[in-house]
Amino acid sequence: MSETSATSLPVTEPLPAPAPAKRVDVASLSLEALTCFVTETLGERAFRAPQIYRWLHQRGATSFDEMTDLSKALREKLKAVADIVPLVKDVELRSIDGTIKYRWKTHDGRYIESVYMPSEDRKTLCVSTQVGCAMACGFCMTGTMGLKRNLTPGEIVAQVHAVNREVRKNEGLETLRPLSNLVFMGMGEPLHNFENLKTALSILQSEDGPNFSHRHITVSTVGLVPMIERFGQETDVKLAISLNASTDEQRNKTMPVNRKWNIAALLDACRKFPLRQGRRITFEYVLIKGFNDADEDAHRLIELLKDIPVKVNLIPYNENPGLGFHTTGEERAEQFRAILADHHIAAYIRKNRGRDIAGACGQLANRGDAAPADGAT
Ligand code: SAH
Repeated sequence: MSETSATSLPVTEPLPAPAPAKRVDVASLSLEALTCFVTETLGERAFRAPQIYRWLHQRGATSFDEMTDLSKALREKLKAVADIVPLVKDVELRSIDGTIKYRWKTHDGRYIESVYMPSEDRKTLCVSTQVGCAMACGFCMTGTMGLKRNLTPGEIVAQVHAVNREVRKNEGLETLRPLSNLVFMGMGEPLHNFENLKTALSILQSEDGPNFSHRHITVSTVGLVPMIERFGQETDVKLAISLNASTDEQRNKTMPVNRKWNIAALLDACRKFPLRQGRRITFEYVLIKGFNDADEDAHRLIELLKDIPVKVNLIPYNENPGLGFHTTGEERAEQFRAILADHHIAAYIRKNRGRDIAGACGQLANRGDAAPADGAT
């Protein structure tokens, strides 16, 4: 009689599959982080990192196969563990004034927008930093969506790469980077996604990337006071503040952030802001009819801003259906501007670009709140 030990029976239950290794989003890495990835994860020599980085951020490569000076073996190695997360052009709307609004679809089925604004002396891109926005300003269309998610550094810079490609194609240009200026005034609150903004700026300002000068980048905020301080310490680009009111009572009504950091706290942060030589802080002031556009508002504004080096951009309100605010007429806007100018405040009425395609300030929300196709939230 043979003995069969129970312990010798083969294991027939399938083993659980190992969790797939997390794939690396290479276009979201700073040059420093990419260097770690290349040397430590891939076991390659460090000089490969700037090579890959230049493909990604100077040439805007969207696949590893384009990187023709890397060996086939290295490209395969990259493909096995890393992705270049795509931003796919979904809609392009052209305004009669030359402005083009692009809507992009993200890999997880969200929609974001960027607005290209060419003029005689510059080509500016208005960049988004979040899907939606948590700030809930009462006059802003994006504010009605709520925050869906932060954009990754890769998704922030991909808007720039994609529009550079479009401009080269549309305008028959050879230059790798036809865009000259960037404004972070698209969907979202940039300082509410500070870490990703910072990494994106490091890429956009890198000599091995698009190499934008700090003088040609402006970040606009509703006024997240503690982040303004960090922004001043940790970046060197220009600051714009969306003030939009001359009293706390007014500002509380339209900008909920003001209940946390009021005008005094905001202006205090501006006074402490480390300004580079000759630089000023831009204040944006959306002119809303009968709400914040009276002579008294202009005089209060002068008083508020008197000891800060400022430039004021007056933005005629772009009406959004259902929000109940109306635009200040041209004549009133000009009178308002003149009061500021008489008191030595540099004030400009901003041209309203892209209104006919809902690409103007505060109008970016198209389908941005659509649920992703896979049902994720
Ligand atoms: N969240 C940041 C970045 C967005 S910038 C910020 O608020 O600064 C968008 C600019 O457009 C802000 O100055 C905002 O006050 C302004 N804005 C919002 N809705 C607007 C509208 N309907 N018409 C004109 N400007 C608007």
